Amino acid sequence: MTEFLRPEGRTDQSAGILGEARGLLPEVLDCMHCGLCLEQCATYRESGAEDRSPRGRLFVMRAVDEGRLTAQQAEPSLSSCLQCRACEPVCPSKVNYHGILEQYFAKLPPQLAPQTSPIVWWLSTTTRVHQLGRVGRWLRQSGLAKVLGAFPPRAMQQGLAALPQSATVSRWSSQSHVPAMGHERARVSLMLGCLEREWFGPVLDDLVDVLKWQGVTVRMPKQPACCGAFAGHAGDAMTGRQQAQDMLQALQQDDHLDAILVSSAGCHAWLHEFDPAARVMEPMAFLATLGLRGALQAVPQIAALQEACHQRNVGDGFEATRTLLQAVPELTLVADPEAELCCGAGGATFLREPEQAQDLGRRKHQALCQDNPDVLLSSNPGCRMQLQASQGSSPKPLAILHPIQMLWRALKPR
Ligand code: SF4
Ligand code: SF4
Repeated sequence: MTEFLRPEGRTDQSAGILGEARGLLPEVLDCMHCGLCLEQCATYRESGAEDRSPRGRLFVMRAVDEGRLTAQQAEPSLSSCLQCRACEPVCPSKVNYHGILEQYFAKLPPQLAPQTSPIVWWLSTTTRVHQLGRVGRWLRQSGLAKVLGAFPPRAMQQGLAALPQSATVSRWSSQSHVPAMGHERARVSLMLGCLEREWFGPVLDDLVDVLKWQGVTVRMPKQPACCGAFAGHAGDAMTGRQQAQDMLQALQQDDHLDAILVSSAGCHAWLHEFDPAARVMEPMAFLATLGLRGALQAVPQIAALQEACHQRNVGDGFEATRTLLQAVPELTLVADPEAELCCGAGGATFLREPEQAQDLGRRKHQALCQDNPDVLLSSNPGCRMQLQASQGSSPKPLAILHPIQMLWRALKPR
């Protein structure tokens, strides 16, 4: 696999995806090969393989661009990328890694592009998302997920094991309106999301309760099923952007909004980056800015707080989350000792690389559990599902919550 690294080693002039129009990925040349990104990359740390590192993947894309490698040969290297973007903040050359990868995927002929279309199709209408949600809840609640999970393929095993312990639909739906309790301090539009609404209903339910108690009016306008983050993070940026535009248009219908709230860290990062002017915020960041009203009650527990990759590398909700939870009396917050490493759930890699997803998930779960926490906290549904899959058949599975649920435990009247 290393011969492609030699610029003189052109193997097949006609094989490059870009054909004769080479040099279409000029930003690849920004990489000065220093290697500072390697230790941040979960797939490199797990495999030790250069072609599973950011630097190696840039080389691979350059090699395809220059016709020294075929897109098929490049596929294992690029499809194993989690798109976690942990390589970007540490890069002294500010290489636009995710932008280059996006351009690369956009230039691939359809038959070679990342195959996410069945899931994107399922997520593109509310009816189908509800159907998917119902099937998932039934599989989990009937115990069938456990039975079927004993059989290959590995991607299906990983997907079934990741179903939340008590997959529950939210009590809220499109076109709901929840007035603030007492004096209205702010007004927000809330994205319900796909998996968040169907399988993590208590997250949205607790979030709406917190907002209402804090004097925030919550509108949930009629909205599309998906914000496009799944398609975008899986390599289909064009579909993802169209879905993001539709979602923001739906959520912006009220002229007097203080913010658009998105409880999933990955979806928040996707929408915030798509339109930084749209005031898309994570709920904990919004509450930290607003300031909490009322006293926080004690929660005598140890909570391990996972930092979702898109929160760490793209968004800005993590500091606010930590600050708010640190203020909860008797709550001991423990940090992730390997916060820079992705849990393995990034993009759609759990489908394409289930072994990698499983290994990284176990590693993340072990790191988070080293101080024997009572509960795991994560702002991203994909990460919570990955942690769920990683605790497998543990005799003492931990509760895995969104941080807003811990805040509600400290705020709600007893
Ligand atoms: S840190 Fe940046 S410049 Fe250095 S090898 Fe990685 S991508 Fe290239
Ligand atoms: S996006 Fe994540 S997995 Fe992909 S190269 Fe960068 S650090 Fe590695």
